Amino acid sequence: MPVLFLNREDVESLLPYGECIEVMAGALAALARGEAFQPLRSAHWLPDRRGLLVAMPGGLFAGGDDVVGIKVLTVFPGNAAHGEESHQGAVLLFDAERGRPLAFLDASSITAIRTAAVSALATRLLAREEAGDLALLGTGVQARAHLAALREVRPLRRVRVWSRDSGNARRFAAAESARHGLPVEPAASARGAVDGADIICTVSAATEPILAGAWIAPGAHVNAVGACTPNARELDTAAVVRARLFVDRRESALHEPGEILTPLREGAITEDHIVGEIGELLIGKVAGRRTADEVTLFESLGLTVEDLAAARHIYHRAVEQGRGVSLVL
Ligand code: NDP
Repeated sequence: MPVLFLNREDVESLLPYGECIEVMAGALAALARGEAFQPLRSAHWLPDRRGLLVAMPGGLFAGGDDVVGIKVLTVFPGNAAHGEESHQGAVLLFDAERGRPLAFLDASSITAIRTAAVSALATRLLAREEAGDLALLGTGVQARAHLAALREVRPLRRVRVWSRDSGNARRFAAAESARHGLPVEPAASARGAVDGADIICTVSAATEPILAGAWIAPGAHVNAVGACTPNARELDTAAVVRARLFVDRRESALHEPGEILTPLREGAITEDHIVGEIGELLIGKVAGRRTADEVTLFESLGLTVEDLAAARHIYHRAVEQGRGVSLVL
């Protein structure tokens, strides 16, 4: 049986943000209903810690055609200096009936789009209706994707962006203002970027906190995306403590991100601080925002079911439209 190879161009044209947000809602609701297989990922630093090798297996048993698969990728945080993306690899999609390989897809573009789409979904569910002032901490692939995805769920009227490197913030602001026809302003400090913001996305490779709880305005919604390993943190303990906390997967949140593990270790929060998963919110198992003034926080780790749902969607669109290259293994 032939396998369809789908490159970045195929992924980007077959997975627009608006569609991806709905696909992610379906996947996370399926996960919450127990219609998915989602083990923890296996991530290994190379001996010189230049990069990570990651394997993310899983399965999705909802939506009519069951699939299993794995995302295999490298994460080399220093790649931007060489003009290359930090996340590279493939999503391998199989049917769950006989285990036949269906498609091999570019993982960089799927990861960028699905991660931003999940944050947009969390924002749609948790941010105040009128939220329109966005702060982005980070100027890389995820920052660009988040700006594009968030436009789908809230009418943005102001965007501020911060980076350690002020030149990167200026370049990002100029390029993204032109792309979206929106005022995007470079901010001199992370604090200046988030001051009074309604929506904050931390999308950096920071290992020490770049967002302090004291800086977050009442009623803001925060998407914490960058810190996916125990030695990474973007939010300080106060930011986690003061927020109503939602996660993509409880088990991942209790094993992977430094910004949850550190406050747990310090005794500043207990596991009960996690209100629920986004999927549980979608199926009405937990309540979202309760007041206009409370701060809501979505801790994003990234799940294989998101990759598989995106890959399945792209695969079906590609078959319909005759896209991709078909090869026999
Ligand atoms: P990029 O390499 O494209 O961008 C990284 C950004 O982080 C740059 O803006 C860089 O800023 C900034 N940065 C790097 N080191 C630091 C630091 N020590 N302190 C503050 N800022 C720093 O990466 P991506 O945009 O693809 O990914 C961003 C983060 O999100 C990564 O940590 C990645 O692992 C994570 N991620 C999470 C996913 C999820 O599902 N939750 C999925 C994909 C990625 P500067 O201009 O200063 O160099």
